[in-house]
Amino acid sequence: MKNQLFEKLDAVFEEMQVIRRHLHMHPEISFHETNTAKYIQEFYANLGVEYTANVGGNGVVARIKGVFPGKTVALRADFDALPIQDEKDVPYKSTVPGVMHACGHDGHTATLLVLGKTLFEMREQLSGEYVLIHQHAEEYAPGGAKPMIEAGCLDGVDAIFGTHLWSLTPSGTVEYRVGPVMAAADRFEITIQGRGGHGASPHQTKDAIVIGAQLVTNLQQIVSRRVSPVESAVISVGSFVANNAFNVIADSAKLIGTVRSFNPDVRDLLERELERVIQGTCLANDCSYELLYERGYSAVVNHEAETLLLKGVAEQIPDIKEVRETEQHMGGEDFAYYLEKVPGTFFFTGAQPQGEVYPHHHPKFDFDENAMLIAAKTLGAAVIKYQETE
Ligand code: MN
Repeated sequence: MKNQLFEKLDAVFEEMQVIRRHLHMHPEISFHETNTAKYIQEFYANLGVEYTANVGGNGVVARIKGVFPGKTVALRADFDALPIQDEKDVPYKSTVPGVMHACGHDGHTATLLVLGKTLFEMREQLSGEYVLIHQHAEEYAPGGAKPMIEAGCLDGVDAIFGTHLWSLTPSGTVEYRVGPVMAAADRFEITIQGRGGHGASPHQTKDAIVIGAQLVTNLQQIVSRRVSPVESAVISVGSFVANNAFNVIADSAKLIGTVRSFNPDVRDLLERELERVIQGTCLANDCSYELLYERGYSAVVNHEAETLLLKGVAEQIPDIKEVRETEQHMGGEDFAYYLEKVPGTFFFTGAQPQGEVYPHHHPKFDFDENAMLIAAKTLGAAVIKYQETE
């Protein structure tokens, strides 16, 4: 059955490519992906596959039942694009100014659609049920996964599998990892309220720039001196704004940044220490502050049994040259929420293109389309294999 699946997928690779390029030319940003959602719905409607639209927003969930009883297993692909101007010179370049599929979600969607079609054609031989989760809004917290789960996309689901095409990893490579694989991603905004004044009379002011600079330095001690050296954590200040004339002392300053971690206890500690350092710095400088701390996605934590199953099936796929353990990524992913509800695994499919390689979210990002076929085979083989588990 596995070989039949692979042969069928080989035969529809071109369709995958056509779909991917169509989506690439017509990207839509997170929470505004109505045409993409419509495209997905029409694809399933034309096949006669049962689906539900507007699941938790623009999400679409299709269900394919094998004729034999079995488990219910979900596959997830996200379909939102990014507010980035496409600077590639290819025929399938984005036609929407300032919007681009710069993370490969077009490829995820094409992969899942064509895999879904193939599973549907094979339903007479399949056991169990396959839930195809097309998720909107992965790129922008609070994301689409949470509302889709609340709307019931995981109801009755025994396990879930998902992949991310990865332009920095050679095509033909599949990367798995048991346990935490992507970080929890939080965001903070600190406003320091000092007292502005004349640049020539600093003694009459509370210089928000000097205080902010101290704060940036003090924040470095949280990761280096508060977090255990065997844990992972990041605090990065990405923006420091106090815009004044050359002879003016800043009245206020605003610092914006991100906090990343894997361990929930470390996450709590980072949030607590961040506020303590701000309090301390502001107390020492006799000024006040406002802190907005937003928790983003949780860490993606892969389950052992499903990860090892995935590794096992990937090792049996002839197109895959290497199956290896991935490093942990400090990026965030709302696949985390599915894995908090049901067992499963999220893995990386190497998709390094020929020529110059650009990272995800780069205006010239692109990926090797052959990786979609590898992703489809790996996901397809995994859900079929899952039916054999205890
Ligand atoms: Mn992504």
